[in-house]
Amino acid sequence: YGPSTEDASAARDWLARRGTFGHFINGSFTKPGETFETRDPATGEVLARVTQGTADDVATAVKAARRAQKGWAALPGTERARHLYALARHVQKRERFLSVLETLDNGKPIREARDIDVPLVARHFYHHAGWAELRDTRFPGHAPLGVCGQIIPWNFPLLMLAWKVAPALAAGNTVVLKPAEYTPLTALAFAEICQEVGLPAGVVNIVTGDGTTGAALVAAEVDKIAFTGSTEVGRGIATALAGTGRKLTLELGGKSPFVVMEDADLDAAVEGVVDSIWFNQGQVCCAGSRIMVAESVAARFETLLSARMARLRVGAPLDKSTDIGAIVDPVQKDRILSICRAATDAGAELVGGQAQEGCFIAPGYLKNIAPANPGMEQEIFGPIATLSTFRTADEAVELANNTRYGLAGSVWSESATVATDIAARIKAGVIWINGANMFDAAAPFGGYRESGYGREGGAAGMRDYLAEPAVKPAREVAPK
Ligand code: NAD
Repeated sequence: YGPSTEDASAARDWLARRGTFGHFINGSFTKPGETFETRDPATGEVLARVTQGTADDVATAVKAARRAQKGWAALPGTERARHLYALARHVQKRERFLSVLETLDNGKPIREARDIDVPLVARHFYHHAGWAELRDTRFPGHAPLGVCGQIIPWNFPLLMLAWKVAPALAAGNTVVLKPAEYTPLTALAFAEICQEVGLPAGVVNIVTGDGTTGAALVAAEVDKIAFTGSTEVGRGIATALAGTGRKLTLELGGKSPFVVMEDADLDAAVEGVVDSIWFNQGQVCCAGSRIMVAESVAARFETLLSARMARLRVGAPLDKSTDIGAIVDPVQKDRILSICRAATDAGAELVGGQAQEGCFIAPGYLKNIAPANPGMEQEIFGPIATLSTFRTADEAVELANNTRYGLAGSVWSESATVATDIAARIKAGVIWINGANMFDAAAPFGGYRESGYGREGGAAGMRDYLAEPAVKPAREVAPK
């Protein structure tokens, strides 16, 4: 289905009714303070005003989370699970509304919000409801950390919230979450869902605002910070927390390799590019942004790739036939274009990738690009890949690992032996074979090197929200 007029108007009615938002603290919405606008990047229209969180707001939210934590942690696992199941079901009940709201605030195609983001959000809560029940058998003696501060980016607003909130709650923690300033709306809609399902007050708190609000959360009395965003900000947070003993997980940037071997199914690999760098306008931390193709098939691959690229439709995000929606904000659009300019200035050739009016950029790729070109080194975070070639498997691996990141990668080959051999030699948290951007709540996700540390999803993700049992002192043996 596309968004029916009712779906779109349900989101618009909600925005008109709510208009200006306060924070969500201790189970209710606060009175709005100083506010800023959040816009639809496709049209520039102001959707709502949200409150710029102060250090005092953050402290109030942390206190509420602290008060709620003991009671929440004392609930039997089955009770915490009941709440997580209820959140999952309510996300599903309101999936059309949430998809439209996400598309309005972020600019992503409705097809993606509807078929990928929101179903994965529900899946994440269902999965972690199971973990709430299993915690004590799988992690005997472990305890929740306490209050977790969570800071998320704008590229998958509600999904990143789910990745953070679901495991934290399953483990018995309470949270203060700060959504990105470009895309706070689905987090605020989620706050309403917390009220609808009767989640105890203070278990989930949402404080809106920009990076200064995030910095206030990092400085607050929390027991863990979970951050997803840029490597630069992540590095600052690690420095701020150094020596505090507080737990930190960082999910940062990437420049993931997309390796097409000589024997690959080239049509499938081209479709993989569509799902990878041309998904969510390329604003995907694990996007296969460096395409590397075996030289012997490179010309044929490029012909197929450029033909497929020409068929992608750039347009209104709410139109269900749109493939490439709006970039989240004019600032991000300029960032993408400036890296592309630096890449072409340094000798690369840009195919496609034209800037269009408003927040739109056509899909494209940079070819004839040297390894040290800025387009090859920097995360573009837009719908522009790089295209280069290799001769041998060893060279493919070397190129793939020639990056300061290590978040993800994908390998395309019809031979399981070849694919698994290459996959094992790429240093990255996730490697997909003959696929890209496949996510599951049970599979841990996270990086190496400048892509960060810690894992989200599955048992590894749960472990990062738990404190290990204290080691019992060895019984002293009296000397004979
Ligand atoms: P960003 O780092 O600027 O912002 C991310 C979040 O951090 C926002 O909520 C922002 O308000 C907050 N923030 C900004 N400055 C802060 C500070 N000094 N202290 C605390 N919080 C602060 O990143 P962005 O531009 O919103 O997102 C794009 C980047 O995020 C890309 O580099 C991308 O690769 C990365 N990202 C990584 C993942 C992942 O899972 N590894 C997922 C999505 C995005």
